[in-house]
Amino acid sequence: MAQTVLTPSKSVIDQMEKHYQSCMQTKKPQGSLFFVKVPGCAITAYRSGKVLFQGNAAEEEASKWGNQKSNHKKQQRTTGSDIYTPPEDIAHLSIIGSDEVGTGDYFGPMTVAAVFIASNQLQELQQIGLKDSKLLKDWQIYDLAEIVKPQVTYKLLTLDNPKYNRLREKGMTQGKMKALLHNQALLQVTHELGNTAYDGILIDQFAKPALYFKHLAGQTDIVRKNVFFSTKAESIHLSVAAASIIARQAFLDEMHHLSERAEIDLPKGAGPPVDKAAARLIREKGGESLQQFAKVHFSNTEKAKHLSR
Ligand code: MG
Repeated sequence: MAQTVLTPSKSVIDQMEKHYQSCMQTKKPQGSLFFVKVPGCAITAYRSGKVLFQGNAAEEEASKWGNQKSNHKKQQRTTGSDIYTPPEDIAHLSIIGSDEVGTGDYFGPMTVAAVFIASNQLQELQQIGLKDSKLLKDWQIYDLAEIVKPQVTYKLLTLDNPKYNRLREKGMTQGKMKALLHNQALLQVTHELGNTAYDGILIDQFAKPALYFKHLAGQTDIVRKNVFFSTKAESIHLSVAAASIIARQAFLDEMHHLSERAEIDLPKGAGPPVDKAAARLIREKGGESLQQFAKVHFSNTEKAKHLSR
């Protein structure tokens, strides 16, 4: 379908709204200011400031409002991955954000959380100091998680070490495991929200969108609509920061339990202290025990075996 995108000034958008008043549609796409149908063209004005003209008469209709020639070129150049770029005003929208924790840690699970934060909750949650869990101390994570969890709709998924190792053994990449967990958590939140409106979904980007959806190929339920990707997404919308905090708390909890079971203080990360702890586990509980505590395909396993001899 032919389409043209304009980024007119606010006053032009206001003029458009007046001009098309009689053709306004009551059902409008999420994240849009208004949606209009005129013969041969559907027009959607987004809160981000972009106005999308679609249909055979798109170019002609858009030409009434601006220099569509240059905009048209721009649109063609950015078509494809561009639909996954968050709108500029995303920080103020109602968003479901998702993030994962534990993927780079040898010991402990992989956890993924998806959190919905409505636009009218943003101000209050901003004030309690929500930010990327990587910037917070463990005790702050617990404090913030306990404040946030009762106020939001969220889902948390934990992939424990035995299951992680079984999937990896079958040849599943960590990237695919992440994609499956993000999709699952997002699905569960969207189901729980029911008719509650939201403007979009923001995934803290761990893979290019095309690869993310390739990982999900074959799944019966895939969350695709209004899905945006961004690296450092926790600084773009509070929902992702909240997701990272909730996922981090679950990871820390599980590390605590695992340490008790291992009778060793299991370190985070994948550095030399991790090799040493793994070597001690091998000596005290046998090499097989690592399946219960660690992501055994990491190179730490070989290093630990070497150290344990
Ligand atoms: Mg992340």
